[in-house]
Amino acid sequence: MADADTPIGIFGGTFDPIHFGHLRLAEEMGEALGLDAVRFIPAGWPPHRGRPRTDAAHRLRMVELAIAGNPRFEVDTREMLAPRMSYTVDTLLSLRQDLGWHRPLCLLLGADAFLGLPGWHRWRELFELTHIAIAHRPGYPQHSWKDAMPELLREQIDTRSGPASELAGSAGGRIVTHSITALDISATHIRDTLHSGRSPRYLLPDTVLDHIHTHQLYQANHA
Ligand code: ATP
Repeated sequence: MADADTPIGIFGGTFDPIHFGHLRLAEEMGEALGLDAVRFIPAGWPPHRGRPRTDAAHRLRMVELAIAGNPRFEVDTREMLAPRMSYTVDTLLSLRQDLGWHRPLCLLLGADAFLGLPGWHRWRELFELTHIAIAHRPGYPQHSWKDAMPELLREQIDTRSGPASELAGSAGGRIVTHSITALDISATHIRDTLHSGRSPRYLLPDTVLDHIHTHQLYQANHA
């Protein structure tokens, strides 16, 4: 039963476009961590990646279409509506203003995104604001990925790791890892596939693909 101690998952991304890799991550992490909700937060202007190529309104609509019918999934437009680019630390501070400081939050990250964490603005402060849940996606197996990890991240893993059952006990500060079904799908590959006139069907929901076709997104002349 959901209560004020049940963690909420926070899942940011460019979602350009959203695909089954994202959706399985959210579904499996939601179940494994007992998340009350998973909030998809499409990036407005991601600081570390430059401006996304597709209009925010289209990326938002594709997320809405993809998550329709899943009672645990919701979309949050605060980054897209922000006048300036949003850093994750600011997004979490803004969420804390809405949700209070006691509610456990859990930032969902693919293992590749976690490895890039030291490049994020004020990244160490994230642990004061949220738990972090790392989903192991293809190419980042749980048994060997620590070997490739910078020392400062390994320290965080060593001091903060714990079982998912501990997430509900505090608002943030823990790290959990969980292996999810390996789906080697990326938005880059989908964009490239469309760009070259091939079909990305079965890599993303049909409703999202219909939206892409209707609005002629990711065509060669939209590069
Ligand atoms: P791009 O190819 O444009 O870089 P992407 O497919 O990696 O995009 P993002 O929007 O950058 O998607 O990713 C948002 C989050 O989803 C990140 O934490 C990323 O690690 C995770 N993610 C993306 N694709 C997968 C996948 N196939 N399996 C598991 N996690 C994924």
